[in-house]
Amino acid sequence: MAVSFRQSTHMGWYLMRQRLAKRERFPLLVELEPLFQCNLACAGCGKIQHPDHILRQRMSVEQAVGAIEECGAPMVSIAGGEPLVHPEIHLLAGELVARRRFVYLCTNAILLERKLEKFTPSPYFAWAIHIDGLRERHDASVEREGVFDVAVAAIKEAKARGFRVTTNTTFFTQDSPKTVREVLDFLNDELEVDEMMISPAYAYEKAPDQEHFLGVAQTRKLFSEAFADGRRKRWRLNHSPLFLDFLEGKAEFDCTAWGIPSYSLFGWQRPCYLMSDGYASSYKELVETTDWGAYGRGRDPRCENCMAHCGYEPTAVMQTTRSVRQSLRAFVS
Ligand code: SF4
Ligand code: SF4
Repeated sequence: MAVSFRQSTHMGWYLMRQRLAKRERFPLLVELEPLFQCNLACAGCGKIQHPDHILRQRMSVEQAVGAIEECGAPMVSIAGGEPLVHPEIHLLAGELVARRRFVYLCTNAILLERKLEKFTPSPYFAWAIHIDGLRERHDASVEREGVFDVAVAAIKEAKARGFRVTTNTTFFTQDSPKTVREVLDFLNDELEVDEMMISPAYAYEKAPDQEHFLGVAQTRKLFSEAFADGRRKRWRLNHSPLFLDFLEGKAEFDCTAWGIPSYSLFGWQRPCYLMSDGYASSYKELVETTDWGAYGRGRDPRCENCMAHCGYEPTAVMQTTRSVRQSLRAFVS
């Protein structure tokens, strides 16, 4: 089981409490973006195209903690931009950990070794390091030579200092089942990271490179072939088995983007981390004033190629908890 027993148990209780309270929509994880600025400019990125005065803004610790407390999510993924550019990011992460939120701090790792001493290892805290492939593939993806080596060194140092280290890998049309296996084998077996997240790239309208986003059929083919030889069971993937079935084309379900909402400098983004149809000032307002039925594949053309975890992992988790067989499968996988 990739996710810790503590985290799985905590999530199980949280889900049970939501069910007992008959809450129809609730957050599992918040994608928190306390800034949009980054020290890289990846071609597939849809987050860094804001004007300079927006890129210079930083969300205060109080504002971020207030948003997480209001929505009640048990997990927070701190993203951006590059969170380590934010001068108070260690304080923000520390406040969330003190409130027993499971925090993933997403980073390209360029500043990681320099900033490590400001953080403390905790079962509630994990680094989520961006690695899109082995050296050549990753450096091409982030458009800078040497970043792969910096990230690998940072992973080793963070592990040596007792941190929980996870990775986040996005796949594009340049990838093949072979490159998927190579990078996941490397992270799983050589670097021995604690968990790995994978995602087909979402076709951001603002991303400079529009040629290399995977369609649904390509995504299913890529993952079903990459998973075909049984490695999926061996890899410590931080996803529910049903979501991995979904990536492979063995399961199909609707988007439930309210389960992984996004909070940024602009507020609660409607409907999800990937698309922006305006903002709400609270999670409650987001849930109550968004026409959720208008989104998802077959409903909104911008969703047509989306198989991202922020839309479909919550659906997979809800379906898992409703089925004894799927719950057991998730527990032993
Ligand atoms: S590291 Fe992440 S936030 Fe920065 S440019 Fe690349 S994809 Fe965007
Ligand atoms: S399918 Fe869901 S998660 Fe994907 S872009 Fe549409 S609303 Fe967002």
